Amino acid sequence: MTFKSAYLKLSLFYTLIIMIVSVGFSLALYKISTDELGRGLNRQTRALREMPIGNNPTPLPWQELENIRLQQQASSAARLRIYLIDFNLLILIGATVTSYFLAKRTLKPIEESMETQKRFTVDASHELRTPLTAMRAEIEVGLRDKNINLQSARKLLQSNLQEIEKLENLSGALLELAKSQTDLVQDFQTLDIEELIIKAYEKVEKLADQKKIQFKNQLRGIEIQGDERSLVQLFVVLLENAIKYSPQKSYIKIVVKKHDKKAIVSITDQGIGIKAVDLPYIFDRFYRADHSRSKIKADGYGLGLSIAKSIANLHSGNIFVKSQYTKGSTFIVALPIK
Ligand code: ADP
Repeated sequence: MTFKSAYLKLSLFYTLIIMIVSVGFSLALYKISTDELGRGLNRQTRALREMPIGNNPTPLPWQELENIRLQQQASSAARLRIYLIDFNLLILIGATVTSYFLAKRTLKPIEESMETQKRFTVDASHELRTPLTAMRAEIEVGLRDKNINLQSARKLLQSNLQEIEKLENLSGALLELAKSQTDLVQDFQTLDIEELIIKAYEKVEKLADQKKIQFKNQLRGIEIQGDERSLVQLFVVLLENAIKYSPQKSYIKIVVKKHDKKAIVSITDQGIGIKAVDLPYIFDRFYRADHSRSKIKADGYGLGLSIAKSIANLHSGNIFVKSQYTKGSTFIVALPIK
């Protein structure tokens, strides 16, 4: 509704500008043309007055010539006025239609980004409410039980603690997402991609050990420009996912290559893979593929990959994915070497 009125206001504004130009141009043209016509007819009348017609040596009377001149001038000016009014009416119709389409085009990206923002707020509030509702229900049940014993009370507190952890993780992820979308370009420094991967690996090492996952790496040092904290975060997201969605005792392979002025990092796992239907959406905020049939149960909010993509884009890079359902996935990050 608000956007409809914005379209109308903007198209009205565009039409007004076009009409000011068109009417201004027409008025100037009218003035110049009528002045020029007046001068021309004046010269003609003067010449006629002095010119003898046929055998009659007396020229036409002055008053008669002047009347003819005025009549001619008035009718030419009237014709010109009609042409210009018709022309401006045509411009008005054309300008109204064009302005509406132009206004729609101008406002479309703003409308889309507001729509995304709205969807994001709804999803985020929903995700925040779920643990809060669970905590509230448990506390209410606990309070209603007048004879609650210490063991039950401890169980309730432990369960609440788990929900609080989820809330902490979610607010942390939301904060990361917000940070990854702010402009960091001014803080860019020269970084070694191998060091970034090692720093990220150190953060997920425990998780990998718990699942007895082994790494086969082919790393090499390539210098890139970027923000260290966010690039480490990008690789943490990808490594954490590779571990989360992989079975025990499997392998993860990290390869760093240089190709076409880009540093290419690929992370391949032997995990559950991603179905072709999910592939186009996995970088969307809050998107999680349905893992209900899989033996691997992984927690998450569907924010990691959208954070990773924002970070890659901020560095003028990109992320791609190749995956075969039930066989494994490869996430490829390409970052420009500057
Ligand atoms: P989260 O892991 O918290 O659900 P992400 O945004 O990191 O959120 O990932 C989105 C979805 O993409 C995941 O829910 C999962 O279905 C899929 N996914 C991401 N990485 C992998 C992977 N390495 N193997 C299989 N599926 C993956």
